[in-house]
Amino acid sequence: MRSRDEYIESLRDGREVYFKGQRVTDVTTHPEIRLAVEHAAIDYDMAHDPVWRSLAVAEEDGKPYSRYFRLPLTAGDLLDRSRLIEAATTLGGTLVVLIKEIGTDALFALHLVAHELDRRKGTQYLDRVRKFHAYAREHDLALSVAQTDVKGDRAKSPLEQEHPDYYLRIVAETAEGIVVRGAKVHTSVSVNSNEMIVLPTRAMKADESAYAVAFALPVDTKGLKLITSAYGSHHDDSHFDAPLASRHRMMETLTVFDDVLVPHDRVFLNGEWEFAGELAKTFVEFHRFTAISYKLPLVDGLVGAALLMAEYNGIDRVKHVQEKLAKLVGYAETLRALLRLSALDSKAGALGIAIPKPLLVNMAKLHFATNYHQMLAYVQDITGGLIATGPSEADLEGAETGPYVRRYLGGRKGIPVEHRLQAINLVKELTATDFAGYQAVLAIHAEGSIEAEKLAMVREHDSARCIALAKQLAGI
Ligand SMILES: Cc1cc2nc3c(=O)[nH]c(=O)nc-3n(C[C@H](O)[C@H](O)[C@H](O)COP(=O)(O)OP(=O)(O)OC[C@H]3O[C@@H](n4cnc5c(N)ncnc54)[C@H](O)[C@@H]3O)c2cc1C
Repeated sequence: MRSRDEYIESLRDGREVYFKGQRVTDVTTHPEIRLAVEHAAIDYDMAHDPVWRSLAVAEEDGKPYSRYFRLPLTAGDLLDRSRLIEAATTLGGTLVVLIKEIGTDALFALHLVAHELDRRKGTQYLDRVRKFHAYAREHDLALSVAQTDVKGDRAKSPLEQEHPDYYLRIVAETAEGIVVRGAKVHTSVSVNSNEMIVLPTRAMKADESAYAVAFALPVDTKGLKLITSAYGSHHDDSHFDAPLASRHRMMETLTVFDDVLVPHDRVFLNGEWEFAGELAKTFVEFHRFTAISYKLPLVDGLVGAALLMAEYNGIDRVKHVQEKLAKLVGYAETLRALLRLSALDSKAGALGIAIPKPLLVNMAKLHFATNYHQMLAYVQDITGGLIATGPSEADLEGAETGPYVRRYLGGRKGIPVEHRLQAINLVKELTATDFAGYQAVLAIHAEGSIEAEKLAMVREHDSARCIALAKQLAGI
């Protein structure tokens, strides 16, 4: 299994990355991107840390490998995976690490869909998927997933768009492989992953078969261009002022495929349009289970920060505060309960793969996303306006300013002013900075939009049972 240094070294491969219009020659030394690399290295640290090793590392035939790569076959496997994601995100300061989580979600989906595709069409995709899975597992690779296409006019299909490249498509096929053109967007951890898995974003029709494409390729492949989002910048901030964002960061790219050659043995879908929607959906179902696992440290962090601020401000016994705290606790624990039940109620799919119950996964994700902003409001309310107006660490330490800050910004007797300000800074980062804004957008959009979750719930619900009951009650 790789060390953090081996992982970091593996990213020095000439990949084509841009930041604010400039080519980045080495992502591991770039002042902003380096933070994302360090954040991702948590995964490799965990595998070598005696505290986490038994959770982070699985074994087969005496050979250790990252637990993320384990195909879940039981509810216990899903719960172990969830615990690992939760622990890594906790070490990541409420930000998911993602370099193994998202890629293995895609691999699980590819196993299921390739199996069905081979069964119905006599193709050999499962063998390719298995080989890539074994390769990634053996080399302990960091993986990104580019699914979301840029999409152009959302009301139009790929062929109705202003130009044909709003969805990634196959433009040629040669003896070596397929050639793809187009762009994906919001691709997380692409700049600091080794391989990128590419999946379709939606169902395709027969005449859209060129858009039904899935594959994997190394991030330094010729023609693959990563245009990094510069959203949020805190690498110069102190840990006191920015306890989360000064150390933790995830970065997304506009990922351009400028006529990229993908070797045949790395292609997992090549025009079989009937399977594009199924692959998109199956990936998202696994990925939402990952999502609800990595949301737990974030919601627990909100609850903890609210409890702390209620105490530090001396309002923990006040009625309206207790009501808000109860809502926060209910919010977090409902998410935890739905997550756990979705694993316990998982069903075995093809190849024995355990699929977390989609109805409950989507309910959990919807519950999390649609109540998130209200929970931020409760935490802000309990904390007070210093979230936006408080002094910096430099003011606290300044010879002229420090004494005033210490004298006037205390709360409940006995609580050091430093602690109160540190807790306020945490609330700031959880609710009011660009780091908080990033998490809020992640809550709404990542792993698919809110409307997609509602559609999935309606699709997965056992409506017949309820209709039968209603008929029986009505005497119909
Ligand atoms: C921080 C972050 C990280 C992400 N990481 C990844 C990643 O690693 N890999 C990846 O592939 N994706 C990633 N995503 C993408 C994420 O899955 C998408 O943002 C999400 O699917 C929404 O797509 P969109 O952003 O294009 O918004 P849109 O799809 O444009 O949504 C905007 C609104 O339009 C509505 N809408 C869109 N199309 C229709 C339609 N046909 N009919 C009716 N309503 C419609 C939506 O419901 C929504 O209300 C990430 C997103 C974020 C914010």
